[in-house]
Amino acid sequence: MRVVMPIIRVRPGSPLKVVIRSACWYGRITHYVNKRTVLCTEEADCEFCGQTIGLWKGFAVVRAFSSERLALLSITPPVVNTLLAGMKGRPSAAGLTVAFRRVGARLNAPLTCETFGYREGEPEVSIEETRSYVERIFRPKRSFTLYTGMPQKKIG
Ligand SMILES: [Zn+2]
Repeated sequence: MRVVMPIIRVRPGSPLKVVIRSACWYGRITHYVNKRTVLCTEEADCEFCGQTIGLWKGFAVVRAFSSERLALLSITPPVVNTLLAGMKGRPSAAGLTVAFRRVGARLNAPLTCETFGYREGEPEVSIEETRSYVERIFRPKRSFTLYTGMPQKKIG
């Protein structure tokens, strides 16, 4: 599947109610460089680690209550703690119902959430699928040098 999944955003003011569909969220260390978010290689050779701080960004595949479509939702470490508590030891997050809110009026104000139950029968998106959706949204729009430890090659 080569589908790029849409990203759903939590807007200030009104909560976004979703059903989590990922078995587990998938997160990576990212850098904000040249007005773009790029993935950290998480290796000593990361070309951006010396330039900017690395920030963990997680994503879960979700379905908004108001929609049938799946989308990727960006989550933060504090939100992960709330999700884990809401799972109450269940092995999968798929089916967890959550209301996300912004704390403040800015578009990028800190995120908070409350879990309020589990829905049975929501098909699970595996961690591998979740990972591939997340990595696709970071595909570079223009070429940059990818350090792989192998002879360098240009991608994009
Ligand atoms: Zn880095």
